[in-house]
Amino acid sequence: MPKLPDGYVENPYQNSTAPVTFPPGQQYGFYFDQGRCIVCEVCMLACMNWNGLPTGAAGRWIRVYMWEENAFPNVRIYGLSIPCYHCENPVCVDAANGAMYKEPKYGAVLIDPAKAQTQSSDLRKAYVACPYGSIVFDSDGTDATASKCTMCIDRLEQNLAPVCVTACDTRAFEFGPLSWIQQQFGTLKQLTTANSSMPDPSISQPAVAFKAQLPRQTIVPYDANDALTLWQQRGPNSLSGDYPAKRLAYGGIGTPSPTIPLVFASASDVTDPMTDRVLKNKLVLHHASNAELLYYTTQDE
Ligand code: SF4
Ligand code: SF4
Repeated sequence: MPKLPDGYVENPYQNSTAPVTFPPGQQYGFYFDQGRCIVCEVCMLACMNWNGLPTGAAGRWIRVYMWEENAFPNVRIYGLSIPCYHCENPVCVDAANGAMYKEPKYGAVLIDPAKAQTQSSDLRKAYVACPYGSIVFDSDGTDATASKCTMCIDRLEQNLAPVCVTACDTRAFEFGPLSWIQQQFGTLKQLTTANSSMPDPSISQPAVAFKAQLPRQTIVPYDANDALTLWQQRGPNSLSGDYPAKRLAYGGIGTPSPTIPLVFASASDVTDPMTDRVLKNKLVLHHASNAELLYYTTQDE
């Protein structure tokens, strides 16, 4: 058995070497360490697999967001994986007209399966009320069927932690009674970055604690003029190098256009670059359509 780091506390609710039980009658919740998340989406795939979810928006019971702020050399990439936070004040339930409820054993917030389609419009209101956008629909239609994260209560009943938590290779997640989570990891319930802020936790009192990504540190010092020289050798309008020829040889999109300006023309372009070229440059939790949900939760850039 490898020695654990000083101060490390084994999580008794997801220990793989000892039996786990989940004492009932209390609120359970998550811990998420943003600095550990590498946006690999394994949590989402494990959730889809365990729960038999389809691909597409209806499979996003847990949504993995990635967004970029600033640009080289100050670029930061943020990841955030969001299941339902099974809030202590579930405003979704208040809006759902009886189609949702909070069960008392683990504090999970659930959709009544018999009403998932028949009360589609009520569940749309619940989606709007949820600060985190944690209800998904199988279409954009008025008769869409709603679904959401169940806290894996079927697994808790089998003394197994939620599968998104156990699947995470970097152990960005922990799960347990919210009181234990807060005792171990603190009570931060809102992540805020330069461009994005999570909702005010006082709205719904989410059963979660966060650790924010640490501030950026320069590991390798750089010289802006050296960087400028290197950057100017790249791109469709490069001043030197063989990039345009290679691009054509590999069936690229054509001759470099003289109308597109050089992105890196001076050292200040390196030290203070344009940020509007990045499409996903903020966290977007509510989506106008399933296509938009998939856009913001698909790491294809
Ligand atoms: S995260 Fe949203 S869906 Fe989940 S309990 Fe809170 S308000 Fe409801
Ligand atoms: S707790 Fe279970 S149902 Fe909820 S996101 Fe994680 S794996 Fe999916």
